[in-house]
Amino acid sequence: MSLGSDYFDVCIVGASIAGNYLAFLLSNSNLKIAVLEDHSEIGLPFQCAGIISQKLTQLIELPKDIILNRVKTAKIVSSTGKYIKLSGDEHPYIIDRIALDRLYYHRVENNRNITYYLGEKYKSFEYRSDNDKEYVLIETSKRNIQTRMLIGCDGPLSSVGKQLNVKNNVLYASQIRIKADFDEDEAAMYFDPRWKQLFGWIVPEGNRIFRIGIAASKNVNNCFKRYIEKLAIDIDNKIDQQGGIIPYGIMNKISFDNIMLLGDSACQVKATTGGGIIMLLTAAKYASNCVNLCFKNEDFSKEFIKKHYEKPCSTTIGRELKLHYFIRLILEKFKAKDFETFFTIIKENRIEHLITLYGDMDFPKALIIKLLRKRTVLNFILKFLVRNPTIIFKILKLFF
Ligand SMILES: Cc1cc2nc3c(=O)[nH]c(=O)nc-3n(C[C@H](O)[C@H](O)[C@H](O)COP(=O)(O)OP(=O)(O)OC[C@H]3O[C@@H](n4cnc5c(N)ncnc54)[C@H](O)[C@@H]3O)c2cc1C
Repeated sequence: MSLGSDYFDVCIVGASIAGNYLAFLLSNSNLKIAVLEDHSEIGLPFQCAGIISQKLTQLIELPKDIILNRVKTAKIVSSTGKYIKLSGDEHPYIIDRIALDRLYYHRVENNRNITYYLGEKYKSFEYRSDNDKEYVLIETSKRNIQTRMLIGCDGPLSSVGKQLNVKNNVLYASQIRIKADFDEDEAAMYFDPRWKQLFGWIVPEGNRIFRIGIAASKNVNNCFKRYIEKLAIDIDNKIDQQGGIIPYGIMNKISFDNIMLLGDSACQVKATTGGGIIMLLTAAKYASNCVNLCFKNEDFSKEFIKKHYEKPCSTTIGRELKLHYFIRLILEKFKAKDFETFFTIIKENRIEHLITLYGDMDFPKALIIKLLRKRTVLNFILKFLVRNPTIIFKILKLFF
């Protein structure tokens, strides 16, 4: 290994959606930016169900060819096969995830201030100082890089995070793409105590192709087999198969001296659905604003980054992510009977159409308030909590 020592103002680790979008947001700043990516091709391996709420187009300009399909209803199925269908104004996008990852890369790849190092692994960092200027020295698999700011966009098993003692709890996912006969306008979620930390999904990609997957904290292959049996699909007809890791919990600490975490590395992921894209796109805007302020004020301290990055994230997506985790804690304890009682309440109160599931599920505060205003829903939740007092302690710990 020949070690040079290159200087960049900012070094982003990870060229997936978080890293590329942040590089794009910073592309007009005149900062010299390095982006390190372990894989030699952006967007691969493909590891996503690709369902994203309509908020996506409020956050970014989405080229039409990235949208493969839209869904009109969400079907929620209990372990005994009872189900409810929710619909509303929200028609989530089913996207071409590889193309989304490449979108911002292609927008900045010719920018003379931005250098991509593909097929190069970030290994570790050290704090250094030179004439009272703190900087970070990074070792990659091919070189040393000096930088004022290191940004870990390196996913759920973040090496940057690990060195900062930030560790995500994770779920393991397995997914196939297959031609099948499900409803092309509908996304389905199958709940089951065997994979209680999330659910099994069916996402219609279009052209009669469906992304069928599951995430669980252990025995994912076994769970996936059971799930496929449940759906009565012949796995031998699959087009291809993907794996993946989903972080699980609430947002991590994300600011450190000269360093920030963004995206899955920061656990900016909804504990209800495993979806991270809306959250990380929102956080990336705060991150880019903070980077610009750090250089303007020559202040790279943890306190400054906390004020201009972590705080805005905490008061927006951070709060909502806590609510997602709160809902997840409840759903994990839901038995088939609880699902059925809940379905009955929704139907009797005619609130299937009130809940625009994916839209509200990015920012569930409004949905929770809407639901708890219904006395039957409130009574049901209170009775459920009395039956499951351990959740109350977890919830108190979460919010106080
Ligand atoms: C099976 C599955 C289904 C999902 N479905 C959805 C969905 O439907 N909707 C949704 O919104 N979200 C979904 N998600 C979550 C979504 O994919 C993530 O939130 C999103 O990819 C996070 O982007 P990121 O850029 O933070 O991290 P990642 O996409 O994990 O990218 C991290 C990048 O860093 C690189 N890297 C890692 N370590 C190093 C290193 N040491 N050196 C250099 N490079 C490194 C990796 O190669 C990778 O390119 C799903 C996730 C999985 C696994």
